[in-house]
Amino acid sequence: MTERTFVMVKPDGVSRRLIGECIRRFEQRGLKLVGMKMLTLSRQQAERHYAEHEGQPYYEGLIAFIVSGPSVQMVWEGEDAIAQVRKMNGATNSLNAEVGTIRGDFALSGRRNIVHASDSPETAAREIALYFKDEELLHYAMPDEDWLR
Ligand code: ADP
Ligand code: MG
Repeated sequence: MTERTFVMVKPDGVSRRLIGECIRRFEQRGLKLVGMKMLTLSRQQAERHYAEHEGQPYYEGLIAFIVSGPSVQMVWEGEDAIAQVRKMNGATNSLNAEVGTIRGDFALSGRRNIVHASDSPETAAREIALYFKDEELLHYAMPDEDWLR
């Protein structure tokens, strides 16, 4: 099924000049970029984004990290996009992430793990709405789409 998922290149990914690397991988896989912006998250945006983690021992450090610099917000569309992007990002703790994933290839940290992606259709809808208005998301056809289904 065609899905849309929310992806963020976190401040460590931006600072380490990995925006293009992340985009390249998702493009190469056959996903379609349908929305993109660059922001330094406010404390309020960060708290909304990570609301489910409030109270966790790593929460304050996570919020401080995610607002520490610019991040890139994107929406990617494609067949089974939510699960496929999670797989391409790798395990949350980069030390457990398989080589070949973004985290497994570029990170060694539990917190500083380069990318975020939605983990379910409900989360994707919620996260997309946190950052994008409907009119900021594009609908367009790609000439290779038939080959990717
Ligand atoms: P994911 O980003 O893979 O969906 P989670 O939703 O569990 O992972 O956690 C959100 C983010 O919080 C992680 O990507 C990571 O940056 C941070 N995080 C999660 N667990 C820990 C931890 N035990 N120690 C430090 N940071 C953590
Ligand atoms: Mg998560």
